[in-house]
Amino acid sequence: MSPDNEKVPRKIQAILQTIFDHKSVVVVYVLGGPGAGKGTQCTRLVKGFDFVHLSAGDLLRAEQNRSNSEYGEMIRTYIREGTIVPMEVTIKLLENAMTAALETKKGSPAWSNGSGRFLIDGFPRKMDQALKFDESVCLASLTLYYDCDEETMLSRLLERGKTSGREDDNVESIKKRFVVYKEQTKPVIEYYEKLGKVAKIDSTSDVDEVYKKTAEAITPFLEKKK
Ligand code: UDP
Ligand code: MG
Repeated sequence: MSPDNEKVPRKIQAILQTIFDHKSVVVVYVLGGPGAGKGTQCTRLVKGFDFVHLSAGDLLRAEQNRSNSEYGEMIRTYIREGTIVPMEVTIKLLENAMTAALETKKGSPAWSNGSGRFLIDGFPRKMDQALKFDESVCLASLTLYYDCDEETMLSRLLERGKTSGREDDNVESIKKRFVVYKEQTKPVIEYYEKLGKVAKIDSTSDVDEVYKKTAEAITPFLEKKK
């Protein structure tokens, strides 16, 4: 390839073209298998550190249920099968939610002058989503990775399934979600690990214990960002 055709390095593209500037908008990806405790810990982090919590799954379910959505049926099928919705839809939903939050949170201490902090929960689930989001929406600063064994995750999800009303909290869907997690999402975590951007947290213990470890990981990180 001649030098003229060489692509601009990814890092530079990210700085030039993202919608939000990662120097003022802190994006923390929250990953881990289904049932690892991502949502639960995010709720605690919102209270503790003034984050806005955006769950990709929740945004997709809201879009699925929105009357007039052209994507409703498609999303339903993907979620039931535990497969990954085409990233254009998910990324657009996240971007819209970020824009809205930056407006409504303006008065909060961590949100002045266009700054903000987001927990992006259950995303990116696949390498292409990770690169696309980092390059075009906002370069993520950190990934919180909740590590939990399948047996524990399965029993948590079956327990949740009794009341969640979620179409994918049943054994068949859960098994498929585990496979997709191992094949598609694990490589994303490994990619960020190589870049030194992962805080790995064992999430087999109870909620308070896991939150303690989470807070210990996130506090120095946010201090450095100031
Ligand atoms: N999903 C998706 N893209 C995403 C996030 C979620 O397609 O970026 C779909 C996928 O089918 C997944 C489902 O939404 O299995 C549920 O995701 P959620 O994050 O709510 O599940 P959790 O991991 O929290 O159990
Ligand atoms: Mg969740």
